[in-house]
Amino acid sequence: MTDHLVIAIDGPAGSGKSTLGRALAGRLGLRTLDTGASYRAVAALAIRRGVALDDLAAVASLASSARLEISDRVMIDDIDVTEEIRSEEVNAAVSVVAANPEVRSALVAWQRRWADEHAGGIVEGRDIGSVVFPDAPVKLFLTANVEERARRRSEEGQASVERRDRMDSTRAVSPLTTAPGATVVDTTEMPVDEVVDLVLTMVDAATGGKR
Ligand code: C5P
Repeated sequence: MTDHLVIAIDGPAGSGKSTLGRALAGRLGLRTLDTGASYRAVAALAIRRGVALDDLAAVASLASSARLEISDRVMIDDIDVTEEIRSEEVNAAVSVVAANPEVRSALVAWQRRWADEHAGGIVEGRDIGSVVFPDAPVKLFLTANVEERARRRSEEGQASVERRDRMDSTRAVSPLTTAPGATVVDTTEMPVDEVVDLVLTMVDAATGGKR
């Protein structure tokens, strides 16, 4: 587990995690990691390779052997999948891939290595405060009503967003849930600046003002 500062941001699709992460990164000089992109990249690779999603062992083997790089671009096995991971096909596949326990353990290990290599960071996903970094000093769980979340993900559509939320919240392994110690923030009507100020106050409290 990393000794560096990790800010864990969890919540369902469209709850504002990436927007908050980007805004905080500039203020804190930390990098952000969108862990959803790691699950999406494995789903994209499985589709490209024609691996059946219900072949748990085959998809897990892809996840543990693939070289993953996430920065401005998303690369898996040297293939740039940055645009492809937002496709309808990947939206439909990703929650199935993410429910595969061995895929999760491979990607959780990769996410922890990422934080070590980047001296901490702002990490967003579904299980960051509960499983990946349970000791993170700052944990947030963002929510927003489903109409607002679907509006923010208008290119995906409300039905797909709701379907992913349902699968992500009900799966057996690491379901989307509010981690112990997480602060719940409803972003439906809250301006980003206000959420940023709240988190900076939490970071100061957690680090004794040494940020
Ligand atoms: O964040 P985003 O909506 O891009 O995530 C895509 C999918 O990846 C989610 O619907 C979920 O199935 C999976 N995911 C996950 N755990 C994470 C991040 C994402 O299971 N930490």
